[in-house]
Amino acid sequence: MSDDRLKLTVLGSATPYPAPGNPCSGYLVSCGDTHVWLDAGTGTLGPLQEHVRLGDLVGVWISHLHADHSADLLTAYYGLLYADIARPAPLPLFGPPGTADRLAGFLTNGPARSPVEDAFAFTELHDGHEARIGPLTLTTAAVSHGMPAFAVRVEGGGRTLVYSGDTAPCAGLVRLASGCDLLLCEADGPQPADEEHVHHTPEEAGETAAASNATRLVVTHVARATSPAEAVERAASRFAGPVAHADPGAVFVID
Ligand SMILES: [Zn+2]
Repeated sequence: MSDDRLKLTVLGSATPYPAPGNPCSGYLVSCGDTHVWLDAGTGTLGPLQEHVRLGDLVGVWISHLHADHSADLLTAYYGLLYADIARPAPLPLFGPPGTADRLAGFLTNGPARSPVEDAFAFTELHDGHEARIGPLTLTTAAVSHGMPAFAVRVEGGGRTLVYSGDTAPCAGLVRLASGCDLLLCEADGPQPADEEHVHHTPEEAGETAAASNATRLVVTHVARATSPAEAVERAASRFAGPVAHADPGAVFVID
């Protein structure tokens, strides 16, 4: 029997490079047989296939073009065009403006530009972009990461999850996450004092969850100097609901 509940599977959550046993940022959102890959961080394409074949995905959504969120698009392209996968049409890919050219810039090895549009059907994201994919609705909001970057609200099975992508605390994320059942929020901070504020600290992740009235919080993209347990404890100091860490392989059923 098909399970039509909204599900979040953590493929990886390490930053800014993979850890042993933990790829970079990547998640699978599922509702029944509909599966969308959120962020194609380094190393996530392997674990993704423990749940769904690359050719059976219905879409990919990329928060921003830092490599720890997008690098596995490069080898997904090889899979989609040059291996054993036969799709009737390119795989829909929602990403920041310029995603197609960035991929082609890396993949092109000769005088002719690599045909990235044969692998992916690109849609450039903007603040307020909405996509309907099977039973899922994906609503995108611009967030604050010092470059074009987005968060996404995924609705399906009567439930809602919101993924922050990478961002400092910002009103756009709180608005997007308003009343969500699960907030998957980065907690990478603090940054060195002389750098721009482009991430949440764990405490700020808790504050964003509280401000948006989220039911539960999952912290992810935790700085390597911080243990997952410490990040959870610090976030929970600012948020009364349940808090967990995005352990690789963890599955959160949202019901
Ligand atoms: Zn980033």
